Amino acid sequence: MLVLVINSGSSSLKYQVRDVAAGSVLTEGLIEKIGMGNGGDGDGEIEGPRDHAEALEQVDAAIHQELGDLELAAVGHRVVHGGERFAEPVLIDNEITRAIERLNPLAPLHNPANVLGIRAISKKWPKMPQVAVFDTAFHRTLPEHAWRYAVPDELYTNHGIRRYGFHGTSHEYVTRRAAALLNLPVNEFDGVIAHLGNGASVTAIRGGRSVDTSMGFTPLEGLVMGTRSGDLDPSILVFLGRAGWSPEDIDTMLNRESGLKGLAGNNDMRSVVEAAEAGDGKAATALAVTSYRLAKYIGGYHVAVGGAKALVFTAGIGENSHQFRALVAEKLGALGVELDAGLNAERSKEPRVISTPQSGLPVLVVPTDEERAIAEATAAVVRSGQ
Ligand code: AMP
Repeated sequence: MLVLVINSGSSSLKYQVRDVAAGSVLTEGLIEKIGMGNGGDGDGEIEGPRDHAEALEQVDAAIHQELGDLELAAVGHRVVHGGERFAEPVLIDNEITRAIERLNPLAPLHNPANVLGIRAISKKWPKMPQVAVFDTAFHRTLPEHAWRYAVPDELYTNHGIRRYGFHGTSHEYVTRRAAALLNLPVNEFDGVIAHLGNGASVTAIRGGRSVDTSMGFTPLEGLVMGTRSGDLDPSILVFLGRAGWSPEDIDTMLNRESGLKGLAGNNDMRSVVEAAEAGDGKAATALAVTSYRLAKYIGGYHVAVGGAKALVFTAGIGENSHQFRALVAEKLGALGVELDAGLNAERSKEPRVISTPQSGLPVLVVPTDEERAIAEATAAVVRSGQ
């Protein structure tokens, strides 16, 4: 089954055509600057498609140029927010599209863009089955004591202010692969998954299900990330508000100017590690803060899952930065964690164990593949609907 996977942002559209049975990518691409151009007609051509419908025309042309005539069986959309309603991928119809739209206030940058992608497909290929795969869905199994904030109930009932969690598609996919690597049925897998990319989150998995996760109402909570602060005392925001910062100023500072960038002046882990190795004190501090925050969460989640059977690293930093993995592992002596330095330093695209046989718990590196997970989920929904 050939599935077109779409990740539609407000000004960009990322796509992949996947052969689900073969697990392969046939072609992929990225259309940028949507809404910034005039479609290239007339005088004063400005780069970029006018809207998502025009971007989709470009995707269609690129796919056909690359692959010739082919029959897409379905489209799978990455949708950021599924709120409290969506615990599974769903076949999209008008009611589902409106339900995703009703969640716009919870994800104002993402859900409206996801809906634009869905509507563009409906317009171009009205009969094409479309499936929404939600970033929050895997975390619908969080128990109330993990998703509640200790604030007046009215904030939850009137505004939906609770912890939702994100990166769910990746955490679920990596959970399945980690369980397989350990020869465990997924429902017997208890562990901690650290998805460390430019955005980063860590999830506590008990019996194959998410029981806690570090991102909350938005993807800002939790770990120190590329440009996001993660956890901080909320009074800081009140303090800044009183000092004259606008909500937009605070939002920009916390989401775009903090994290590794705020501490070390650079959001790229490779550069931060290189700078620290060259003696840059700020970079060393950034690594210390970032690895300590993660180690604290891992300790907490070890308790939350009743004793983890594995610690799993994934995404850009988790899969590639042996230096950062070592920094985290050295803080987990209380759990008996012991990395095999040789295995940790090896580069590979395969799921693997990087701890010693004596380690208190196995430490794994499991590459994530969100597009593959979306394509597989899409194919499964379409098949079950037939
Ligand atoms: P992602 O958002 O999953 O693409 O991850 C982006 C992060 O992964 C950035 O901080 C990169 O510096 C980091 N990263 C990617 N490749 C490497 C590498 N080979 N070594 C260390 N960090 C890497």
